[in-house]
Amino acid sequence: MIPLEEARARVLAGCRRLPPVTVPVAEALGLVLAETIVAGEAIPPFPNTAMDGFAVRSADTADAPRRLDIVGTLAAGAAPDIEVGAGQAVRIMTGAPMPPGADAVIMVELTRASDDGSTVEVQATVPAGNHVRAAGEDVTPGQLVFETGVELGPGHLGVLCSLGATDVTVVPRPRVGVMSTGDELVEGAAPLRPGQIRDSNRRTLLSLVERAGATPVDIGLIRDDEDTIRSAIDTAVETCDALITSGGVSMGDFDYVKKVLSATGDMAWMQVAIRPAKPLAFGLVADTPVFGLPGNPVSSMVSFELFARPGLRQMMGHADVVRPPVVGIADADLIRRPDGKTHFARVVVTYRDGAFHFSSAGGQGSHQLFAMATADALAVLPDGDGVKTGETAELVLVD
Ligand code: AMP
Ligand code: MG
Repeated sequence: MIPLEEARARVLAGCRRLPPVTVPVAEALGLVLAETIVAGEAIPPFPNTAMDGFAVRSADTADAPRRLDIVGTLAAGAAPDIEVGAGQAVRIMTGAPMPPGADAVIMVELTRASDDGSTVEVQATVPAGNHVRAAGEDVTPGQLVFETGVELGPGHLGVLCSLGATDVTVVPRPRVGVMSTGDELVEGAAPLRPGQIRDSNRRTLLSLVERAGATPVDIGLIRDDEDTIRSAIDTAVETCDALITSGGVSMGDFDYVKKVLSATGDMAWMQVAIRPAKPLAFGLVADTPVFGLPGNPVSSMVSFELFARPGLRQMMGHADVVRPPVVGIADADLIRRPDGKTHFARVVVTYRDGAFHFSSAGGQGSHQLFAMATADALAVLPDGDGVKTGETAELVLVD
């Protein structure tokens, strides 16, 4: 057996960042920036008011209360074509440009307009610049806004739009093929004959690929036949940037995925010192990363989390490929036996009294997908006897 970190290092060594592409800003959410963004414009582009009220000369408010003549109204979107002279005010709405002559805004709550709307009494003294948003106060022209490697979130896309960008150069989403293998597997609602079970891994793995930010490609359900598996893998690696297989990497007589992969590709077949998900095949087939995950449903999910997700995130240009753990307190004993492996227990997590607390999500067998489905986290139990009530463990909060 090899330690988790060593197995993951091998996986990461084979997952190269994809070459950049230029996409519409509308399609860039969650992708990693592959260019440096330098502002070509100021944000805001012109001085404007942060409040609804009156644009005034601050000097005119020095001896407030004072009555001023209203010489016009400026709404957001209007050009600032009204001049504010001494003793004058312009009614102004949030976002409207500051009119020439005015240097401050007094908010409407501190004013009282005459019934005919011709004059306004300003009831407070305001300094120059009051409630005025200066041009370039957020971003100045020439400013380096975002560096290569930044993950584009909703706010980043907003800034790009504020600068008038319509396209952006990013690391693309890899197309990731997913296939199930197993003669026992049945697709959909077809009746089960003796010995058969339904294929659950494919839907789960396709969904995990999507959650990881990549594009899932359904390669289908493949029989336990060496030639069929070989041709399915060959076709998949030609059309996809990465391939995930489930099943057939253990010690069984019909575990052909392992056999085919070791024959066709530059594969490492590993026994990782973890539970679940001990067997893992990983390598390059025709230069395409292939993850051979174990077939047990919980194992395939844990293996995806610990190996495939980091590999895919690296292909997508993320610097942080592994989720940082949080520390939680055990609400009940979570016992295990020493076996040289790190265990990843499925747990439910609550946040209470300023701390995360966890307890078992249910059956911990690698076939018990139900507990995994309801789990919030994997509790990391180092080799030993587990944790007792009140003791702490690291938690990997999963999607
Ligand atoms: P394998 O890794 O092929 O030896 O499979 C290990 C266990 O996982 C067996 O009990 C299989 O029946 C089960 N299994 C394999 N593939 C799937 C799948 N796609 N969906 C549900 N169970 C599976
Ligand atoms: Mg199998």
